[in-house]
Amino acid sequence: MTGLPATTGLPATAGLPATAGLPATTGLPATAGLPATTGLPATTGLTVCAPLRVEARALRRGLHGAAGSSPAGRPADDGGAGNGHVPGMNGVPGAGGQVRVVRTGYGPRRSEAAAASIAASPPAMLAVAGVGGALTPDLRVGDLVVATEVTGDGATVSCPAAPLLAGELRRAGLRVTTGTIATVAHLVRHGQHARLAADGAIAVDMESKPLLAGAAGGPAVVVRAISDTPEHAVVNPRIVSGGLAALRSLRQAAPVFERLAAAAGPRQVLLAGPRSFCAGVERAIDIVELALEQHGAPVYVRKQIVHNATVVADLERAGAIFVDELGEVPDGAMVVFSAHGVSPEVRQEAARRSLSTIDATCPLVAKVHAEARRFAQDGYLVALIGHAGHEEVEGTMGEAPGAMALVQTADDVARLRPSDPDKVAYLMQTTLAADEASGIVDALTDRFPAATGPGSDDICYATTNRQRAVRAIAADSDLVLVAGSANSSNSKRLVETAERAGTRAYLVDGPEDIQLGWLAGASTIGLAAGASAPPAIVRQIVSALGGLGEVQTKEVVVATETVQFGLPKELRQRTADPASMADPAGVAGPAGDRQRPT
Ligand code: SF4
Repeated sequence: MTGLPATTGLPATAGLPATAGLPATTGLPATAGLPATTGLPATTGLTVCAPLRVEARALRRGLHGAAGSSPAGRPADDGGAGNGHVPGMNGVPGAGGQVRVVRTGYGPRRSEAAAASIAASPPAMLAVAGVGGALTPDLRVGDLVVATEVTGDGATVSCPAAPLLAGELRRAGLRVTTGTIATVAHLVRHGQHARLAADGAIAVDMESKPLLAGAAGGPAVVVRAISDTPEHAVVNPRIVSGGLAALRSLRQAAPVFERLAAAAGPRQVLLAGPRSFCAGVERAIDIVELALEQHGAPVYVRKQIVHNATVVADLERAGAIFVDELGEVPDGAMVVFSAHGVSPEVRQEAARRSLSTIDATCPLVAKVHAEARRFAQDGYLVALIGHAGHEEVEGTMGEAPGAMALVQTADDVARLRPSDPDKVAYLMQTTLAADEASGIVDALTDRFPAATGPGSDDICYATTNRQRAVRAIAADSDLVLVAGSANSSNSKRLVETAERAGTRAYLVDGPEDIQLGWLAGASTIGLAAGASAPPAIVRQIVSALGGLGEVQTKEVVVATETVQFGLPKELRQRTADPASMADPAGVAGPAGDRQRPT
């Protein structure tokens, strides 16, 4: 080990060119670079703690606009006495929130002193940013590590805003990994990397843990740019370019701190109720899990079992293989049909190939299929109100291709050419927005007064309830977030429903998708979730928002759901599930539930 501090990845005395502004950290007084916070007005923005001078300089240079320069035009520096700057800090109003960069000094001792000084007048939010050492081989020099938690001195501090910050940094084009950062008291030497990694840490430094005390219990984040890796030890000449690459990443990350500052603060979260999984989605996931349990991996699933990236990824890890078409399923294998349903043609192909099939079609989708068959057999032209390309629509249309027409807008109604205008029927995709679909039904009944609809609503109870719930929270929210994947029809309809209620709304797969800019000025956030979005995603979003400031949650419940669907016979035979055994029709639910499969 040379004199290069593995924990920062930067050489303490040599290695980087002088112009890189290497810190002569030794010999600095314990408070060197610290703001004289006593007597300073408490900031409402973000204080960024940068242990080393080069780190502070890189961050200041990266801040938006003229923020990295002193009024005289030369780079602001922690030693900028005489230019009107408080030594060690730089207030940056910028386009986002106010950011001040504070040089806090190298190592735990100076960090403790700096934290005590900052905590005397705590900021709205605290960030620690600097370079660090990688502990795992997947990290490269210049990568950023955003801490989900920081360990040190036998204690752990959580950083719940990590996914928000990581997502924003990735959108800024940076390579980002989230995980545990370990703060150690001494330079990491050969052999110690593995021990720290075995404890779950992915990166190491010497300052983050004590610096987090500067937040005084308020929100805080930690970002470290990797300057050395276990493979490229600090004795390697690569450390020079590694240090520069790390500083470059810090500079590129700096503008994100402005957006973080603008997003920080306490807020209220209104939770839409009901939200997340419906009975059909729970049943479909159960079916794949039970098929894996009873038959072993792999189990093939035609199309995504439900339209959610997290659900699909979890099941893939458990041994499910998702395919687009049956042609990708080997002979003799087991295949599950997704909750969105399949056309008779797909069933026939599976039978022809003697595939072992389990049908996870939601019973409420199956009901629409049955209605399509009935109307077609009775000689009706069946107008299916839905969205082209959606798997549910493709499956339903396949029930009677010669007798069905897809209607996506009221204009499409004018193009219908029934052989008998008195024999027009309409059905709906189960996940439509009720208000949008009713406009199309009006156009149909205007043109074909004898048009007949389904016996009971096709738009399912779960879709209807979630739309009512999102309307209930939208009016009181500055912003509505809808948890759900981009290909989830019912989730997209929730976004549209909130927007029609006059509130801006965004679809997010998880907290990483939330743009910090959306949160600026949003003191009340509505949070809904599509029927295919796992409840855990909602919890993760609330937790991440809580990482920006105190969050108070309030649930707005418009309906209580008690619907349950039983398992298909292929799984019931081997499952001692009293509910599914007691309900051979496939549906269990209280009297009064609006829909029953037919
Ligand atoms: S959203 Fe409705 S139709 Fe779709 S799976 Fe859930 S209950 Fe079934």
